[in-house]
Amino acid sequence: MSYCCGAGMIGSIGTVRHQRTLIRNVPILYCPACDRIDVHPSIEMEYEILVEYAQGDRSPEVDFSDFVNIEHRQELFENCTMVDDGTGFGEVLRQQIDISLDLLGVAKALEDDEWRQELKDRLHRLSERLNKYNKRKEISQRSA
Ligand SMILES: [Zn+2]
Repeated sequence: MSYCCGAGMIGSIGTVRHQRTLIRNVPILYCPACDRIDVHPSIEMEYEILVEYAQGDRSPEVDFSDFVNIEHRQELFENCTMVDDGTGFGEVLRQQIDISLDLLGVAKALEDDEWRQELKDRLHRLSERLNKYNKRKEISQRSA
């Protein structure tokens, strides 16, 4: 399982920017708390080859799925705590908040103050992001 700043990273398919090149449909892991994005470790090699190729070619944009078959993506994400299966980012954030709240209960029971503080910080970040996400959603719904 992959962790970042204490939060479980989410498996997804996304667009990654490498210098001037956009690479679409890349299996990634992202952290809902701080926005860190990692290319999925099991396709890192293919990713690097594709990036080199795209840069040599000066392509502004390439599609990872054109070069690598990612149809067995289910398997790629078996080790992830959660997979973003299209339920939406808001749902992912809510799940992470639930998990953090559960852990906060554990940390309290263990009287682990350091962990408690860490979890409180994370909860704060996650709920801020959820608020922002909900606001953005409202705006885009209104303009639609
Ligand atoms: Zn993080």
